[in-house]
This record gives sequence, structure tokens and C-alpha cells, in this order.
Amino acid sequence: MPKNLSFVIPCYNEVGNVEAIFSAIHSVFDPEGITLEIVMVNDGSKDGTREKLRELFMAHPDGSLKVVDFSRNFGKEAAIFAGLSHATGERVCIIDADLQQRPEVALSMYRILDEKPEYDCVAAYQDQRKEGKVLSFFKNCFYRLINRMCDIDFIQGASDFRMFRRNMADAILSVKEYHRFSKGIFSWVGFETFFMPYEVQERASGTSKWNFFKLFAYAIDGIIGYSTVPLRISTVLGVLLSIFAVVYMIVLVIKTLILGIDVPGYVTTLGFVLLLGGIQLLILGILGEYMARVYIQGKDRPIYIVKEVLEGTENDSSADGEK
Ligand code: UDP
Ligand code: MG
Repeated sequence: MPKNLSFVIPCYNEVGNVEAIFSAIHSVFDPEGITLEIVMVNDGSKDGTREKLRELFMAHPDGSLKVVDFSRNFGKEAAIFAGLSHATGERVCIIDADLQQRPEVALSMYRILDEKPEYDCVAAYQDQRKEGKVLSFFKNCFYRLINRMCDIDFIQGASDFRMFRRNMADAILSVKEYHRFSKGIFSWVGFETFFMPYEVQERASGTSKWNFFKLFAYAIDGIIGYSTVPLRISTVLGVLLSIFAVVYMIVLVIKTLILGIDVPGYVTTLGFVLLLGGIQLLILGILGEYMARVYIQGKDRPIYIVKEVLEGTENDSSADGEK
């Protein structure tokens, strides 16, 4: 019998949180009579999360907890994918381990799916953001840019905290790309999504794994993964520069014919050489970003490698990865 609801929880250095989120979810959903499966993915933690999860698993041999243990840190996106692959429930909810996203909100999502059969997914978004002005500014710029460049919609403030039906979970699993950008995949697979505002809590314990540079790299992944507009920049720049060069040459010829031979300006020449060199390097860089992704995807490496899966009452060790 499939469970009513599976939780997918990526955990990286969350030793202080895994037990708390497990109990919090149970205390919210058990009184409702909703049968649960909780899939916790240990994404190569270095702080004893693995041992804590094992302990938790031993303490709950009823089959409601599954632990997927990675061989190293593969990142949150890989952990979400692994969790989804192991989730068997009729509905699936992705939630962080740090209790910033309350299970009570997940219950509201569950009810919305009950009441609105026309929706396949409920996504929580932050209407009030608890973050610095500078970060907010960059996030605003990112969303404006990516929405202009891509055909699919990216909703600002929408997190990975969402619940969807089995059909959407299967659709997400069918997207096997290596460079995963969940916000893009959720939007790309389609389905009707209900957006629900929620308030993010403070982290229960530990620290956030994101910093500005990681976020920047993530933003680049998002844009490159869902748009080829940057590639077109080279064509447009090339055309504009050629037009400019032709006009400038005509001006120079006329000037030379009327005023005689002029000693060319050293600064202007150097300026143009540097500018053109810069633009060429930029375009090579953009081409390189796309090529690198083709290269990595071409190797067809698995998205993650599992060291061990704990499920049901038996311990099943496997060293194979999923693609
Ligand atoms: N996480 C993960 N692998 C990583 C980084 C993060 O599985 O390499 C998990 C982390 O344990 C947490 C969730 O992803 O459950 C969100 O991470 P975090 O709280 O650091 O992000 P924030 O809430 O600050 O956006
Ligand atoms: Mg967090």
C-alpha cells in the first residue's frame, strides 16, 4: 500500500535537526490519520548526521523512515533527486531539514491538494524576505533577467518547499540532466501550481550552506540551463561592432581625404584593442560555459552515488548510483 505522503528531506550537516524535523512532521500529520514515509538523504555530512540518522532509523523500524546515504557531498539538487527516486507516496513534499519550513505549512499544502483537484502542486513562497538589502537587490535582478531570457516562468521567492502529486513527481524524475536547477525543472515539467505565501522561520540549529558566491554560481546554472540567449549575445555584438567599424572607417577615409594624413591616436587604438579583446574573452567564456555542460552531460555520470540505503526492517547495502 503506498503511503499518503512522502517527505523528501536533504540533509547536509544537520545533526542537531534531523530528529527534531522527524518528530515535528509526525506530530503534525499523525493526528490527521495521514500515512507517512519520510525519506532523509544524507548528502555526505561530516558532523555525525549519518550516525544520528542510523540511530533514528533503528528507533523507528516501522518502515516510515528511509535513509539514503551518499558516498560524498553531491549537493542539495542531487539529494532532492535521490529522495524523489526513493519516495513512493501518492504525494511528495520536499522540505529542508533545518525547520525553517514548518510541517504545519506542509499540512496546509496537503489540504489545498485535497480541496483543489485541479492543482497538481502547491508551492510555498516567501512574501516577506528576511535577508539583507544587497542580497535582495541581486535576487531581484536575477529574477528579472532570467524571466526575460527564458520561456518558462521563475517565480520570485518560491522555494523548493512544495508538495506535488505522484504524476508530477514522476515527471520531475524523468528529467535526468546532471546540472539540476529545481526551480527550473518544476516550472519546465508544467502542471498546475498553486502558490501559497508562507513565513520562513529561523534555522533551528547549524548554519546555512549558502554564501554569495555559491548563490551566484547557482544563478549562472539557472540561466545557462534554461536559456540560450547568452549565446546570441555574440551574434548581436558582432553585428553591432561590424557596423560601427564600417562607419568609423568611412569617417576616417573622408577625414584623411579632406584633412590629409593624420597621426592616429595611441589611446584610442589601445582602447579599442582592449575592448575587443575583452568582448572576445567574454564570448569565449559564455561558449565555454555551454560547452562544459555538454561535456559533463556527455560523460553521462550518475547524479549521485549511494553508499547505503536503510529501509523497512532490513538493511540493504548497495554501491550503485542512479542515473
Ligand atoms: N543541503 C544539502 N546539501 C548541500 C547543502 C544543503 O542537502 O550541499 C540541505 C540542507 O541540509 C538543508 C537544505 O539543503 O536541509 C537547505 O540548506 P540551507 O538551510 O543551508 O539553505 P537556506 O535555507 O539557507 O537557503
Ligand atoms: Mg535553511
